[in-house]
Amino acid sequence: MNTPLVVGNWKMHGSQAECAALARQIVRALGKQRGQSSASVVIAPPFTALTAAARAIKNSSVGLAAQNCHWEERGAFTGEVSPVMLSELGCGYVILGHSERRHIFHETDLEIQKRLGAALRAGMRAILCVGETLDERQSGQTFKVIGQQLRIALKGMVKDGINQVEIAYEPVWAIGTGQNATSTQVAQVHKRIRQALVKAFGSDGETVRILYGGSVKPENAKELADTPDVAGFLVGGASLKVETFMPIVRAFSHK
Ligand code: PEP
Repeated sequence: MNTPLVVGNWKMHGSQAECAALARQIVRALGKQRGQSSASVVIAPPFTALTAAARAIKNSSVGLAAQNCHWEERGAFTGEVSPVMLSELGCGYVILGHSERRHIFHETDLEIQKRLGAALRAGMRAILCVGETLDERQSGQTFKVIGQQLRIALKGMVKDGINQVEIAYEPVWAIGTGQNATSTQVAQVHKRIRQALVKAFGSDGETVRILYGGSVKPENAKELADTPDVAGFLVGGASLKVETFMPIVRAFSHK
C-alpha cells in the first residue's frame, strides 16, 4: 500500500517571503506531530516562490511541486517553464491538467499528454487532474469525460511510466466552491478510474495513488479520507493556512 499523499496547491497566492513562512510552518507542524500522520506532504507554490519554498523545506520530508510545465526542454516559448528548469529548482512533482488550466487557459488533453511525457522524462512525478463540470455530471457524462481525459493524457505511456503518476479526481463544480463531492460520488469515480488504470496498465495500474480534490477542509477530510480508494488529497484554499491544512494531513493518520 502506497503512503497517502496530501498536496497543497497554493495557486497564484503568496510572495516569496509568505510562501517560505508557510512552508516553514508546515515543516514545524509535521515535526511536532511525528508519528500521528502517515501521509506524505507536498506543497505547490507559485513559480516565483519555488526557490524560497525549496530552501524552507530543505532537509524535511515535505516535497515540492510546480503547478504546470511546458513540454519542451527549451526554446522560443515566451512565458513558459520547462520541466528540466523545474527539476533544477528542486521540484519532484508537477500538477498537470488542473481544471483552471483546462477551463480558463483552454489546455487540451493532447497538450496535457505532452506535458506529462516531458515531466516524466525530466524525472518528476506528475499529478494528473481529471474531473467533470456540473453540466457534464448532470447530463450523465461524468465517466465518459473522465475516461477520455485519462485515455488521451496517458496514451503511449509505458507501464513503468504510470508508477511516476498520481491521478487527482477533481470535479470542477467542487473546486473553490465550498461544495465537496460526497464520499459516495468520490468512491464511484475512483472505482472507475481504478478500472481504467488496471485495464490499461495491468498490475501497475493497481498501485497508482488516486487523490481527491475539491473543497477539502478540516470538517470533511476524515470522511473523505475514509472513502474507498482515496489515497490522498489535492487541496486548494485550505492549504493556504497551516491551521486548516494540518488537520487535513492528519485525516490519514489511521490509514
Ligand atoms: C484545487 O485547486 O485543486 C482545489 C481542490 O481547490 P479547493 O480545495 O479550494 O477546492
